[in-house]
Amino acid sequence: MANIEWCTATRKRNCHIPEVYCTEHHCTEPEPIRCKWCGSTEVIKHGIDKGVQQYFCTECKRQFTTLDCPYGMHTPVEQIGASLAMYYTGSSLSDIAQFLKQTYDNPVDRSTVYLWLIRFTKDAIAIFEEFKPKVSDTWIADETAIKFQDKLYWIWDIIDRDTRFLLASYLSPNRGTREAKILMELASKRADIVPAKVITDKLRAYLDGIELAFGADTKHIQSTPFTEIDSTNIIERFQGTIKERTKVLWGFKTVETARLILNGFTVHYNFFRPHLSLKNRTPAEAAQIKSPYKNWGDIVRKVGGIL
Ligand SMILES: [Zn+2]
Ligand SMILES: [Zn+2]
Repeated sequence: MANIEWCTATRKRNCHIPEVYCTEHHCTEPEPIRCKWCGSTEVIKHGIDKGVQQYFCTECKRQFTTLDCPYGMHTPVEQIGASLAMYYTGSSLSDIAQFLKQTYDNPVDRSTVYLWLIRFTKDAIAIFEEFKPKVSDTWIADETAIKFQDKLYWIWDIIDRDTRFLLASYLSPNRGTREAKILMELASKRADIVPAKVITDKLRAYLDGIELAFGADTKHIQSTPFTEIDSTNIIERFQGTIKERTKVLWGFKTVETARLILNGFTVHYNFFRPHLSLKNRTPAEAAQIKSPYKNWGDIVRKVGGIL
């Protein structure tokens, strides 16, 4: 966990140069306090709340502290970002709340962590939609069973063979032609191309689903142990890296929320999680996406309006 350290020499955050070596050590003029929302230096002190100095910007009329908290929130970006990362790697909301209390003495409860999760997951999905992956023309689809509200549901996934980029995930109680077609259309919309080949298991729904979505030009291959590409191995490795999904999703009350979190897992998997088989790059990096957002904290900072 990255702790925030203020360098006493340069007054920069996370300056990793030991103070005695820091070249800016002799700088005597302190940096002026800038408004963290608009950058103005027209700021005045505005009282102290719970031991934290408050400032008021006379330019944009907003209040702030020099703590790195998003607008209107009391928890610093790093802690919120860490909470989302923990969630998407399998920690429960209660575990996260307890972690914040113990590590930062920050008494938040699980409902607050839940609100962060929903809010910043929505934002991340919207932000990353703009980034189009460059993927191969061969995609692999599969379904995983999941128990949701005491019923059997399916998570449909489709990934790119070369970059392992997860093009689409779809949660549904059914496993028919309609769902197979929806999955293909979502993937095609995400990648902006129609694939030359789709590899699937023996499920009949794919036969018509793929043709309805892409026409006869896309070749459909039902994988066997002798298929040219080791699709079974690729899909099983993918499911291994994202297995927290199935544990987490059943806890939600509505399909809509479960679908939102499912897409949150997709963001985490594609953009934040490095893969050994991709030489420690993320699938997004393998798909030549250049994104300035390297972790959940970057999303929180962007959405929270911090300069
Ligand atoms: Zn320094
Ligand atoms: Zn301002």
